[in-house]
Amino acid sequence: MDPNGVTTARFMDGFQPGFSKAEMHRTRDQTRRAIKRGELIQSKGCELCGWELKRLHKHHPRYDQHLNVLFLCVPCHVSVSVEERRLRHGARMADLRRANFGY
Ligand SMILES: [Zn+2]
Repeated sequence: MDPNGVTTARFMDGFQPGFSKAEMHRTRDQTRRAIKRGELIQSKGCELCGWELKRLHKHHPRYDQHLNVLFLCVPCHVSVSVEERRLRHGARMADLRRANFGY
């Protein structure tokens, strides 16, 4: 269980094309340390919907930018990840849908 009481889906594991799991972990560590040192301040609530939670997820749009972070609640983190996936794979998704479901 995650601290917000919502089970984090497996796809939130952080896969990002072009980056290894090791790079992902290093970036997350760097972000955690930057927050500890006060270089990065966590927002009071989710940056998308404003839900005020003590523990927010930290979303990295790119794993080579550890200070480029969005503080998000779990549902918004899922939404942002789904949206990024759609942008990445949208054309192929549409092709598959048309070929298999005809709409
Ligand atoms: Zn939110």
